[in-house]
Amino acid sequence: MTDAVEQLPLLEAALDAASLAYKKQSQIVANLRAGNNNRNRTDQLQKEETNLRDCKRQVDAAKRALQAAAPETNSDTQAKNVAAAVEGLLRRRFFIAPSFEIYGGVKGLYDYGPPGCAVKNNLLAVWRQHFIVEEGMLELEATCLTPAPVLKASGHVDKFNDLMVEDVETSDAYRADHLLGEHLENLLQQHPQHEHKDEMQHLLATIDELDQKQMDVYLRKYEVTAPDTGNAVTKCYPFNLMFQTSIGPSATQPAYLRPETAQGIFVNFKRLLESVGGKLPFACAQIGLSFRNEIAPKGGLLRVREFQQAEIEHFVNPEDKSHAKFAQVRDVTINMFGREQQLHRPYKPVSITVGEAVEKGFIDNETLGYFIGRTSMFVEQVGMNMKFVRFRQHLEHEMAHYASDCWDLEIMSLSNNKWVECAGLADRSAYDLGNHSEKSGSELRARVNYAEPKRVEEVVCVANKGTLGRQFKRDAQGIIKQLSAMDEEEVKTLKQQLETGECKAQVSGFDIGPEHVSFRKESKMVSGKSLYPSVIEPSFGVGRILWCLWEHCYYVREGEDEADAQTVRRVLALPGCVAPVKCCVLPLSKNVVFESLLAEVRQKLSAAGLVNRVDDSGTSIGKRYARADEMGTPLGITVDFESVKDGSVTVRERDSTAQIRCASVADAVDVVRRLVAGETAWSDVLASYGNFRA
Ligand code: AMP
Repeated sequence: MTDAVEQLPLLEAALDAASLAYKKQSQIVANLRAGNNNRNRTDQLQKEETNLRDCKRQVDAAKRALQAAAPETNSDTQAKNVAAAVEGLLRRRFFIAPSFEIYGGVKGLYDYGPPGCAVKNNLLAVWRQHFIVEEGMLELEATCLTPAPVLKASGHVDKFNDLMVEDVETSDAYRADHLLGEHLENLLQQHPQHEHKDEMQHLLATIDELDQKQMDVYLRKYEVTAPDTGNAVTKCYPFNLMFQTSIGPSATQPAYLRPETAQGIFVNFKRLLESVGGKLPFACAQIGLSFRNEIAPKGGLLRVREFQQAEIEHFVNPEDKSHAKFAQVRDVTINMFGREQQLHRPYKPVSITVGEAVEKGFIDNETLGYFIGRTSMFVEQVGMNMKFVRFRQHLEHEMAHYASDCWDLEIMSLSNNKWVECAGLADRSAYDLGNHSEKSGSELRARVNYAEPKRVEEVVCVANKGTLGRQFKRDAQGIIKQLSAMDEEEVKTLKQQLETGECKAQVSGFDIGPEHVSFRKESKMVSGKSLYPSVIEPSFGVGRILWCLWEHCYYVREGEDEADAQTVRRVLALPGCVAPVKCCVLPLSKNVVFESLLAEVRQKLSAAGLVNRVDDSGTSIGKRYARADEMGTPLGITVDFESVKDGSVTVRERDSTAQIRCASVADAVDVVRRLVAGETAWSDVLASYGNFRA
């Protein structure tokens, strides 16, 4: 122990040095990316990205060494208790259930029961209001079935893979990285002084970066076997996470179930642009199902094979990413876990306003900052515990080469004791529209007009008709046409390609060289230009948000013990806007004298659009309240003998369990309506009506 304590300053210094090296290398990569207007990566960029990943390995190894010497307190047992309690409640009250349970169930597929379905729909209604309505966004619904060429163009056919191995006897499948990771962790735990200790720790830090060959080498070296049987495992192979199918009876048109909703928006870009009169910026949202054939689904709704996404594609002029409504989020405070915080001790997020984060350049631009602010407001509104919400910036090595900045909304899953990515907010530059333009042949650009026409010097390309005609004969005309239709960016790229490397470029599918074109500068007046808009994409996983919300809202009434399963009173403190039932209606007993008043309460609540349930089951009123608390019902109206005499009823609030007495049903329903709509707070209601004790 003393040794470990003495080592701490050395380990901290090693970590600081590794972090500094990573930061320097990040800057090199960022500069190269910024100067690379081509959508493809250059060799040098690729080389520097590899160096950057190496630096990150060293940071992670240093962090692990420090963590091993000074472990933080571990609350795994607590997490397990939350998992059992929340999952138990969700299943017992049929918020969710494994799909096809009576046939044994299918891993990674869940059905939403009545209250779960209601919470999900309510959450989506808040999302729709918060983003689509308030931002004046477009909304569309594209199909889930997607022809293969679309997903080939987006990169999913080639790159949407995880490495997988199988048990040689049973053919059970495992994710190779999970298997190797768990095996190494067990080994290190059993043999802390293992002869390959350093390599194992290094591997644990870099497992998700191993390629297929390296993965096989280490699976063999450490003799990894299938955990359930101890059998040997096969060599690993890339497993594409998309569900493949084909369209039509002849099965000649390969297709996939979409792995994300975004592509449906990109392929409709032309029509969407038309519907906003051709003007940038504009945004389109889509709520819908996505499908991923996850090798190892886990964590309830956290990693499933069919899930709901709510995605926004905000199209913006790449040269002007300001946002007209930025002032509205300037003062929103977020827990920012930026690159600085991830690479510097104490590795904790800082509290900062969105305004300051954008001004100081921590967040790349106003539009991205705007959506981060709005996302924070959204999760707060639906009831997330903001102590367990943070925005984590992707480190340079995590970002795709075309992205200019990415942040994840991370929410603490209390049952997994782990931060979970619940939404990704990325500035994806012009990558998607450019790719679909190239592969579909349909030009997905927008025109941006300047405030005043301006004189510009442009490099134009002049086709050498003689050399083209001699070499390409009948095809020369097509090439000449394509060359003359090129815009400034394309001409620049062509020039660059012909001046570097092999001095070849593809035009209309033919290889042309410097002898086929010349370039000259021209000065002309222009009123605007056509460009690929940048795309800023907030992408929400609805199931993950719901799962974390249930965990955050769950508590046991004070003074009670979860271990006493029979009597413990559990509460799901869902806010009115997402609660499945807004108000329970309880007669004091089963007496028929209450019937007409009960009918009146129900009718008035329903007319006000408030979902309500009568519980006249005859058990004690306390037990019935407890049942409603567990379902997350925020309010209850009780009809008693006093009500029969004078029409007055009580309203009870779930979290305080306090009650007020209203003179009429109409008054009580209005109180409930105002509370559910968030127009008034319970403390104000209590102050004006007084606390009622029966
Ligand atoms: P991605 O396209 O991978 O960035 O995913 C977008 C969002 O979808 C993530 O932020 C998650 O909230 C959600 N998501 C991704 N994969 C899954 C999954 N297998 N199960 C549930 N939600 C997912």
